This record gives sequence, C-alpha cells and structure tokens, in this order.
Amino acid sequence: MNKVPQLIDGAFVQSSTQEWISVTNPANNQEIAKAPIALQSEIDQAIAAAEMAFQTWKKVAVSERARVMLRYQHLLKEHHDELAKILSSETGKTFDDAKGDVWRGIEVVEQAANIASMMMGETVENVAKGIDTYSMIQPLGVCLGITPFNFPAMIPLWMFPMAIASGNTFILKPSEQDPLTPIRLAELFIEAGAPKGVLNVIHGSKDQVNYLLNHRAIRAVSFVGSVPVGQHIYKTATDNMKRAQCFAGAKNHSVIMPDANKEHVINNLVGASVGAAGQRCMAISVAVFVGNSKEWIKPLAEQIAKVKPGLWDDKEAGFGPLISPAAKARVLSLIQQGKEEGATVLVDGSNTTVAGYESGNWVGPTVFANVTPNMSIYQEEIFGPVLCCIEVDTLDEALELVNNNPYGNGTSIFTASGAAARKYQSNVEVGQVGINVPIPVPLPFFSFTGWKNSFYGDLHAYGKQAVRFYTETKTITSRWLDDDIPSGPNMTIDLK
Ligand code: NAD
Repeated sequence: MNKVPQLIDGAFVQSSTQEWISVTNPANNQEIAKAPIALQSEIDQAIAAAEMAFQTWKKVAVSERARVMLRYQHLLKEHHDELAKILSSETGKTFDDAKGDVWRGIEVVEQAANIASMMMGETVENVAKGIDTYSMIQPLGVCLGITPFNFPAMIPLWMFPMAIASGNTFILKPSEQDPLTPIRLAELFIEAGAPKGVLNVIHGSKDQVNYLLNHRAIRAVSFVGSVPVGQHIYKTATDNMKRAQCFAGAKNHSVIMPDANKEHVINNLVGASVGAAGQRCMAISVAVFVGNSKEWIKPLAEQIAKVKPGLWDDKEAGFGPLISPAAKARVLSLIQQGKEEGATVLVDGSNTTVAGYESGNWVGPTVFANVTPNMSIYQEEIFGPVLCCIEVDTLDEALELVNNNPYGNGTSIFTASGAAARKYQSNVEVGQVGINVPIPVPLPFFSFTGWKNSFYGDLHAYGKQAVRFYTETKTITSRWLDDDIPSGPNMTIDLK
C-alpha cells in the first residue's frame, strides 16, 4: 500500500508512526493510500528545519525567490494532467473539475512570481531637514498552513507560494482525507529549486494541528475549513500571540431579478449549485427568486435534474461522489430534515447511485422549493449538491435575507438593471459579489475576501493582502550627518 511520505528538511521520508489514516477513493471507498499521523518528534524536526532555513532564505535575492516560482509554475503546468488525475483519484472530482482546482492554484503561483513589486516599501525624503523615512517589508519566519479536503491543490497553493516568495519558510498540514495531491505539489516545488527546509509537509489531524498551534516558532497561521474548526484555530492561534487568517464555511445566495436573462440564469445556476457535488465554499446553495422570476424555479430544477454524478473519467458526469461516507450521511440527513420541515422537494438525489460503484458516496442533485429561513437546510452549510429556492417580492427583501445570514463568503445577482446591481453590490454584507457571474472567486492579483462567519481575521488570502499577512513593515528614519549638524540637545519628540 502506498504510504504517503512527509517532507522534512528537503527529504521525502516515511513516518515512524504506528498510526495511519486510510486515504480512499470516494467512488468505492477502497483504500488507495495511507497517511501517517506524524509523531511529535517529526513535527519538531520539520519546525527546526524551517527555522534553520529561514535564516538563509530570508536573505536570498527577491528575484531569485521569484525565479523559483517561475520554475514552479512551469512544472505545475507540465504536470497539470498528472496532478489532476491524482486529485481525482482521492477526491472523486471529474477530470475537468480537478484540472480547474490545479489551475486556480497555478494562477496564485504566477502572482507569487511577481513578489518584488508587492514587497516594495515607501520613501519620503526630508521628513525633517536632512532626514529621510523609508519602509521595508520583511518576512515573519515560520508560517503554518492547515488546509481542507475540497481543494487539495488550489488551497495549499493559496498559501505556501505567497508565504515563501515573501521570504518565509512554511509547514503545510494538508487534509488527511486527500494528502496525495499536496505531497505531489511539494515534490514539484523541490524540483523547482526550493532549498531544503523552506517547505515542509506534515500529515495528521487535530492533535498535530494543536501541537503546531502551540509551538513557539510558528509566527502566522493560515487555515481553511469548517466554521467550528476555524473558530478554534483562530482563538488558539491568537491566544498564543500568533497572526491568524481563518477561512471558514459558507451559505452563498444568488439573487435572481425578473429582468435577468432566463437562459443565462439557468445555465449558470446549474453548475454553481451542484458542480463539484456542492463541495465548494463558493457554491451557490440558495437561489433567491425576486417577483416573477419565481416562474424559473421549475425549469431550473428540470435542468439540474439532468445532471448525473459519475466517475472522474466519465465525460457525461456532471460531478463526482462526496468525499466520505460521513459527508454523505450528513447531507442525506439534512435532505430528510428539509422534507420533514416542510420544504417542497422538486428533485431528490437521496437514492442516487452509480452502476458498478454502489458503495461510493453518491448523492444526486437535489432541489428544494418553498424554503424558509428557519429550516435546517437554510441554516446549515449542507456541502452537498443541494439547492434551496426561496421566493421574495422585492430586492430589498432579498438584501435583508442575505444580510441576516451569518455567512458572508460569496453572493451573486442576476439582473439587466445597473441600478439594481449597484444597489446590491453596495449594500450586501458579503465579501465577494458577482454581477451576472455566479461564483465570483477573484483572481490572485485581488484577494479572496470572505466576510462574517466565513472568515476570521483581517488580512485575506493571496494578492497584496497575503503579502501583508506574511510580513512585517519596518520603518526607518535616517540622517546622514553633513556639515549642517544641529547644535545642542533636542529635548522634544520632534525631528529637528
Ligand atoms: P475541516 O474543518 O474538517 O478540516 C480542515 C482542516 O482542519 C484539516 O486539515 C483537518 O485536519 C483540520 N482539523 C479538523 N478538525 C480539527 C480540530 N478539531 N482541530 C484542529 N484541526 C482540525 O474542513 P473540511 O471538511 O476539510 O473542509 C470543508 C469546509 O471547508 C467547509 O466548511 C467549507 O466551506 C470550508 N472551506 C472554506 C473555504 C473558504 O475560503 N472560506 C474554502 C474551502 C473550504
């Protein structure tokens, strides 16, 4: 059986642990690999290696750090299909979707190759006579990334390339459910010329994360995952005086105005709601139909019903299985609660399976109408291929509904009216807004800016905000003595 190695001090090594976690193919739940639960001594070695590497890496020329990213980008593109196959094998994602997962990570590496311009400080000459002030951006030290199962390429790539390009060293603790993709990403990073100790990969689950969070040497913590874990990590990291950014769960609404283009709405909502089996933090899980647009609920449901789950290489498959039997049980239980609480089931995917793969974690596309905000299917993040449809009379009511929701990751509005779109973008309390674009995930020259319970922290992932997150600003005030030496002691705080 394939035992997943760890990356410690530049070497891919087998753990000496006795405890291993099964990595399975979600299409049949057969084991495809085993991931170690790292020993504390192995975590200590990884941190010591990262601390040591930081002393030299922070002094490497910024253009050389950028060149590592350029070589890495090239290798990732060369291995794009291979990475996507590995990713499909452990997540069940369709090949095209897996390629998208890798691609959105490659885009961040491209941005990391542009690091020099993002690390520029500021200068003001003559802040006082003969005195200049300038600022420089310096890396923090050892940074930690804890990633979820649903984007095993994109999310690790949100983190370590930006942190490392900024001059830090990094410990990655990927999801124990799909560690094969992240470890392959790490192999390619070493091949790209990253010096030993700059990136380290440790496997495990909550105990390993908690040990890392309490470790003196970790300066900053990036986390992506569920709300309860995100809250715990944010609290623990900040109680330990570490910087933290924690991206958490979501409930994303799409508001459909009656003047929108019906065909565009339906085409976009099908993929945005049940694509990737709904296991996207930016999936649209609630469609809010304003006024007469409610007439499109049935045609939308008919289109969604046509989407079939299937195997990663099945060209007809719209999405794959859920990640685990536990995830499937949770989604089925929420669908059941939706029925019991009085929502109307237009499409029911509870009893879906795929021939020959009956033991897989399949749930078919599911659409509920007449959903109300007090129902569990509205309140909980389902993280399955389930769309809840709600009807309201006005845009104001839609805004009130979305703003009362505790999550604020993404939202979209479909409309032909600039005024309606502008009102929505200005007043909605959600961090990422699409206008006639269903899943508004910003490209990496911007940042990924979830709000409310979808994010704990202040500086967000990738873009300029990531550079700020992974660095300190140092401000220098300097005077070079010339003939014009001020006379007598300066007894004030003013620069003279
Ligand atoms: P999860 O919270 O179960 O796990 C995420 C990571 O935390 C894993 O590496 C896991 O090992 C670790 N972990 C789990 N329990 C822990 C604990 N008690 N203490 C310390 N560490 C622990 O999340 P998941 O199921 O892998 O991912 C799905 C979730 O991630 C969804 O809620 C989804 O919305 C969210 N997500 C959010 C974003 C975003 O940008 N906001 C992006 C992707 C996924």
